[in-house]
Amino acid sequence: MAGIYIHIPFCKQACYYCDFHFVTSLKHKTELLKALQNEIRLQKDYLSGETIETIYFGGGTPSLLTGDELNMIVDTVTRYHTVASGAEITLEANPDDLDQEKVSAIRQTPVNRFSIGIQSFFDDDLFWMNRAHRSSEAEASVKRVQDSGFENITADLIYGYPLLTDHKWKHNLEQIFELKIPHISAYSMTVEPQTTLASFIKKKVYAPMDEAQSAEQFLVMLNAIEQQGYEQYEISNFCTPGNYSRHNSNYWKGVKYLGIGPSAHSFNGEARQWNVANNAKYIEALAKNTIQAEREELSEQNRLNEYIMTSLRTMWGLDIDKLDNIAKGSSSELIRAADGFFDKGWMSKKDTIITLTQEGKLYADKIASDLFF
Ligand code: SF4
Repeated sequence: MAGIYIHIPFCKQACYYCDFHFVTSLKHKTELLKALQNEIRLQKDYLSGETIETIYFGGGTPSLLTGDELNMIVDTVTRYHTVASGAEITLEANPDDLDQEKVSAIRQTPVNRFSIGIQSFFDDDLFWMNRAHRSSEAEASVKRVQDSGFENITADLIYGYPLLTDHKWKHNLEQIFELKIPHISAYSMTVEPQTTLASFIKKKVYAPMDEAQSAEQFLVMLNAIEQQGYEQYEISNFCTPGNYSRHNSNYWKGVKYLGIGPSAHSFNGEARQWNVANNAKYIEALAKNTIQAEREELSEQNRLNEYIMTSLRTMWGLDIDKLDNIAKGSSSELIRAADGFFDKGWMSKKDTIITLTQEGKLYADKIASDLFF
């Protein structure tokens, strides 16, 4: 089983915090879609014939595509791959795109899961982020999607930015619970270099992020979601029983995936590769039946570190036997290095599985990097 990620590099406007690859003009959409289809054809053997269990339209803003365009891309995937019946097909969508006409059109495609970029239910927050939608559109879009028969929905939320008081954060979470959204991805606001947010902070137009506020709001969230019966199956991902994102869970479990589109990453078990993050260069290369991408073969050390990084973030944890499968003797080395974290109560171990405690989850990145080989 494997997954396919398709990057749609267009957005209506640039959110101040975003460093994903996108452009705000749809001028070259037709050429880009043609290039995507050509890349699907050229990369048909990348996954060695494995059945496709998940397809994920990410971006950018894939909800800027029409139903016909989505159908055309999925048809191309099915022409070159065996797609499992019941495959999870996710579409990232922004609330302002999801009017009734668009939702009805998407209903006529194989898309069966929505990832809706809500971020906050407060207009002042959305304005501060330079999001294209308003809070009322967020709520209406979720209801429209649900009324059209989609049950598998995830909402993106952001916390840990100066405007978001604890009171507002609790309200945002309550809105999600009230709307009965079965999956939440919630990320602390990070200031990526080269973003408008970074430059506003540098110029003192915006206040900097406060780590203590972010940690506090993370704990508020853990408490609230637990009471509502959501499971924290990855540090930033929560769901009601059984409603995991199959696509993202497979990333964390090391399942192979093929990334299509500018800036998209692929992994075939032995190497990673990533396409050029430039629409014009991407289109130009595909017009010549070539793919402009960089590739990195994964060393034993890379594979150990990736496994530590991803597994510790999940509720399934790190299996020390798997470390030994990658490099003999590495499990005892890791256990020795992790000694201090067990003493602090940040990690626990049951049989061969190591997981982070609630407190340890606050330091997940530091713990992982300290354990790297
Ligand atoms: S809509 Fe998403 S991809 Fe586009 S700029 Fe905003 S955060 Fe980035």
